[in-house]
Amino acid sequence: MAKLLILGAGTAGTMAANLLRKALDATWSITVVDQDTEHLYQPGFLFIPFWMEPTRVKKDRRGFLPEGVEFVEAAIRRVDPHAREVHLADDRTLAYDWLVIATGTRPDPTLVEGMVEALAERTNVHEFYTFEGAKALKAALDGFDAGRLLVHVTEMPIKCPVAPLEFAFLVEDHYRKRRLRHRVDITYVTPLDGAFTKPVASKELGGLLTDRSIRLAADFAVERVDGKRQVLVAYDGRELPFDLLVTVPPNVGQQYVFDSGLGNESGFIPVDKHTLRSVEHERIFVLGDASDIPTSKAGSVAHFMTEQFVGNFLAAVEGRPLPHSFDGHANCFVESGRGQALLLDFNYDTEPLKGTFPAPVIGPMMLLKPARVNHLGKLAFEQIYWNLLLPGRKLPVPTEMSMAGKRVPAGQKE
Ligand SMILES: Cc1cc2nc3c(=O)[nH]c(=O)nc-3n(C[C@H](O)[C@H](O)[C@H](O)COP(=O)(O)OP(=O)(O)OC[C@H]3O[C@@H](n4cnc5c(N)ncnc54)[C@H](O)[C@@H]3O)c2cc1C
Repeated sequence: MAKLLILGAGTAGTMAANLLRKALDATWSITVVDQDTEHLYQPGFLFIPFWMEPTRVKKDRRGFLPEGVEFVEAAIRRVDPHAREVHLADDRTLAYDWLVIATGTRPDPTLVEGMVEALAERTNVHEFYTFEGAKALKAALDGFDAGRLLVHVTEMPIKCPVAPLEFAFLVEDHYRKRRLRHRVDITYVTPLDGAFTKPVASKELGGLLTDRSIRLAADFAVERVDGKRQVLVAYDGRELPFDLLVTVPPNVGQQYVFDSGLGNESGFIPVDKHTLRSVEHERIFVLGDASDIPTSKAGSVAHFMTEQFVGNFLAAVEGRPLPHSFDGHANCFVESGRGQALLLDFNYDTEPLKGTFPAPVIGPMMLLKPARVNHLGKLAFEQIYWNLLLPGRKLPVPTEMSMAGKRVPAGQKE
């Protein structure tokens, strides 16, 4: 019997288990390992500080795995790609013929001086990239009604790179609705030279910050968080005082990836960006945020890449040439407050552009422009995630990015 081992039962690992159980016959055993049994719907972390009931984002992950897939609850300690073994923290060892790594990324505040201590107090320094952090931030916002609020990104890449911008727009709306906006001074602090990474999106999103009177502090490479003095200090000597800091710590790969020597300096595993196969170990594929591919770390990317991975994986095990089919497709709703959101659709070669995105039934959606229908799409995604995406059902969105409806800026080739 051939042994397939999947590490991580988050977005990509769960989808991969469902798709591969259908694609592989009974001569294959499939085992999935995760450190716990709670699947977290991470896009919900953005809404918990404002209105979402925390219990909504948690479900038992075993309920999303199909019959014929074994679930092992244990933390992974080390992968030995030469012996084709995975060592678990409870001292068990699992052997594999093929390995899929889908253990995602994690915020690591230890990489910034003062950040761990400042976050630990849960008084005026917060984050929303963990379940507990998002809940604590709700309480902090409820008690904050005046002062300087910084929304801060330490460095890129982070998962869902638009989430901090969304938080800035939502928190602005939160205080506007509470008629306290004039008392809360909001600044978006980023290491990038503008609001976002790519020129067209950066201009649109930067314009929206200006419209909402949210200040932008760009090129801010943070050196330390001084929790006592309540200032964020940059390497170039700039200091930004705050009364409430909402930060996104650096995002890195899991500790076992470092310990196994599988990742780059940030713990992301180098893969061929079109096949998702490890560049060093041909029996390993990497899905979702754990890989080093040059596109956003996002659930939508995990979804498209896992669909494309199946063809590549089957070709690899059958010794056929790999289709090289993944184009880096990402599709993200960006909450902009006022009950609206923007839609971004891009891939390795095409940056997020303006125009329309063809959507069956509800009609074209606006790209890079705030619209009500995009916000409703973001809200609907919660049910789509649990009921269609995780079980590996086909969504009415093309796996490969399409240029239909996109407006290419003058002077650029399609
Ligand atoms: C605040 C926030 C908002 C977001 N909003 C969006 C959005 O609107 N749209 C979007 O597309 N994406 C969004 N994302 C990103 C999205 O949630 C992730 O990109 C996606 O979940 C990545 O899937 P993954 O399978 O790679 O990793 P994950 O879903 O994180 O799964 C990794 C799994 O590995 C397990 N694991 C890790 N280490 C170990 C270990 N040592 N041993 C055993 N198991 C281990 C974990 O328990 C986890 O179950 C958001 C993320 C955050 C934090």
